[in-house]
Amino acid sequence: MTDDEFERVNEDGASVDDFATRAIHAGWDPDPETGAIMPPVYASSTFAQDAPGEDRGYEYSRTGNPTRTALEDNLASLEGGEYGRAFASGMAAINTVLNLLESGDHVVVGRDVYGGTHRLFTQVYEDYDLEFSFVDATDLKAVEAAMTSATELVWIETPTNPLMQIVDIEAVADVAHDGDALLAVDNTFATPYLQRPLAHGADIVAHSLTKYLGGHSDVVGGALVTDDPDLDERLGFSQNSVGATPDPFACFLVLRGTKTLPVRMDRHSENARRLAAWLDDHPAVEGVHYPGLDSHPGHDIAAAQMDDFGGMLSVEFDATLEAVRTVVSETEVFTLAESLGGVESLIEHPATMTHAAVPAAERRETGITDGLVRLSVGLEGIDDLRTDLQRAIEAGIGG
Ligand code: PLP
Repeated sequence: MTDDEFERVNEDGASVDDFATRAIHAGWDPDPETGAIMPPVYASSTFAQDAPGEDRGYEYSRTGNPTRTALEDNLASLEGGEYGRAFASGMAAINTVLNLLESGDHVVVGRDVYGGTHRLFTQVYEDYDLEFSFVDATDLKAVEAAMTSATELVWIETPTNPLMQIVDIEAVADVAHDGDALLAVDNTFATPYLQRPLAHGADIVAHSLTKYLGGHSDVVGGALVTDDPDLDERLGFSQNSVGATPDPFACFLVLRGTKTLPVRMDRHSENARRLAAWLDDHPAVEGVHYPGLDSHPGHDIAAAQMDDFGGMLSVEFDATLEAVRTVVSETEVFTLAESLGGVESLIEHPATMTHAAVPAAERRETGITDGLVRLSVGLEGIDDLRTDLQRAIEAGIGG
């Protein structure tokens, strides 16, 4: 939505401040020529120029594409930021943040991050002479202690993957800024509907659009949002130079997803809350990691910085690896698969799937045990989800 449009709708009394309104309208007004409600998929690699060097806002689709602009503006609005950048994947977005750094720089990273992020940092960028310290980011003293004069970036996720720990964004932003470092928050699990890190002091928000923002398990994408024009320019330089940009159809699909983000997240959160409560009382379950539970150690911080607790949870079974592998293989409504955030429920075993790239000793230290199972709770009927899990638990563990 342009600034003028924003004003006009405001004058008409409609609440454009409402997240749900922006989810549907921000980034695109109906096409003035055709009235098209959705942005066309501008399948054009290049754009005609009126004279050499005089384009109409677009010259080449790696650099910019109108469908991508619609998505980037939509995402910036949802995160409450000024500038959005879309990428070919979440990892491409994360890589672009790392491109801000120079050899010799140091990064403090929350320990319980997505396995692919851990792999990129340690197996790609350590070779470029960047140094990473992995710390328990729920422990502010540990974050403070890890900062050095070379620290340029602090990288966190909250809720974390897969242990659903809650990091206090505002407190970590203060520590990062005291050390003249940037704070980047991977907001994939919460989504901007439930949590807007820029409002809590983060400098950059990162997303895997593949998850809740796309929402239908049919597209891979990533995004970065910031409020800082200089930072955005540097991110844009890398976006164009490296070229890991999404094609316009991918952008169209994500835009279709963001329109329904609020209603989906409400149902994801409701289903996850009910499953977490049921599993918490289950005799075969040793523990449930869900920030919506009063007993969760990060519950109060989550309640303060999130609007609801989301659709992800993980469950600790006191059972052998074999028994747990049977549980995750036996579900029928929950599909055994990596990824998360689609309308359908998924189940996975972090130690052998999403987090297999994290060395075993580090996994154990982080708490990713062989008994841990992660659920991406979808939008199906809650009774079907409960019955499905109960049957699979009985098949694997009994009880
Ligand atoms: N961040 C988080 C929290 C993720 O779970 C993932 C993927 O699972 C990524 C980033 C990477 O995103 P992508 O798979 O779109 O590259």
